Amino acid sequence: MYAHSKGINYFDTAPGYCNDKSEEIVGAAVRQLKRDTFYVSTKCGAADGGQVRASLEKSLKRLNVEKIDFFHVWGVLSLEGWGNRKAKGAVAAVRKAKEEGLVGHVVCSSHMPGKDIRVMLADELVEGVTLGYCAINFPYRDDAVTAAGEMNLGVVAMNPLGGGLIPQNAERFGFLKGPDDPSVVAGALRFCVSHPAVTSALVGFSSKEQIDEAVAAVAHFKPHTPARVAEIRQHILASFEGLCTGCEYCLPCPEDIRIPQMMDTFNQSLLSGRGEKIMRERLKWHWGTTNEEAARCTECGLCEDRCTQHLPIRERMKVIASLVEEKK
Ligand code: SF4
Ligand code: SF4
Repeated sequence: MYAHSKGINYFDTAPGYCNDKSEEIVGAAVRQLKRDTFYVSTKCGAADGGQVRASLEKSLKRLNVEKIDFFHVWGVLSLEGWGNRKAKGAVAAVRKAKEEGLVGHVVCSSHMPGKDIRVMLADELVEGVTLGYCAINFPYRDDAVTAAGEMNLGVVAMNPLGGGLIPQNAERFGFLKGPDDPSVVAGALRFCVSHPAVTSALVGFSSKEQIDEAVAAVAHFKPHTPARVAEIRQHILASFEGLCTGCEYCLPCPEDIRIPQMMDTFNQSLLSGRGEKIMRERLKWHWGTTNEEAARCTECGLCEDRCTQHLPIRERMKVIASLVEEKK
């Protein structure tokens, strides 16, 4: 309610968030609002069309709405997975619900590399995409954002603050704050939404102060000039010493290891200082994989010869491969 009173009008949830309570919480809040003053977004990750329909009907009830404005084919992790969602009816189920007026827009969300998301969007089955896009991972997703812009699709940038890593490393990312930005957070958000194809930024909040900070960041929003964006991009790439930028020059790997995803996992550890825990979480929840993927590395070294950041990829693969499941 506080966020809405400050002008925020897009609320994103999912059945599984917050121990399955998120949709009910959002539903309880939005029932107090005038329907034409907000958009609600939710998701389903099933491939089977029947399961998607059942999930969608539950979401409608929990959210107290007659129509879900944006319904996501949720968390597409590979083109094979996307093929599955099409073959088993998930995409068709959401499109049918749209025809019935139960869904406003058919959208998808993905953690795939930009070029794969481009392929998915080219099917012309969705009207928009939710993807991670921020000052840390933009090279990895640029292609998708550009493709969506070319197709006039909506782009919702999730984790525009790098999942909290940018504010946690405010000194390192200080250069994002320009003379007219009130904070590093404001500079990071401005960088993200200055991309002309980005429609909206999803910022997670855990306090009213964080809402105030994000709202202040965009209150007098002026997009960066293309020259300033190019300058910031250059600065980011140059200052990413020791970090993977997601450029993908290291690929392909003969063992079919998704090296940028593995190195992104290592980035999280370096930037957050949360070591193994954050790496395990990143592998499982963001990349839908385990340490086994890194364990396939034969240490051939091909990737290191090509890496633009000269990263010790083999060493990092070993660290990731050695991660063990946390005991409950
Ligand atoms: S060193 Fe490992 S990750 Fe790199 S290309 Fe060879 S097998 Fe793949
Ligand atoms: S070449 Fe290096 S920086 Fe680029 S994606 Fe591969 S590991 Fe990351």
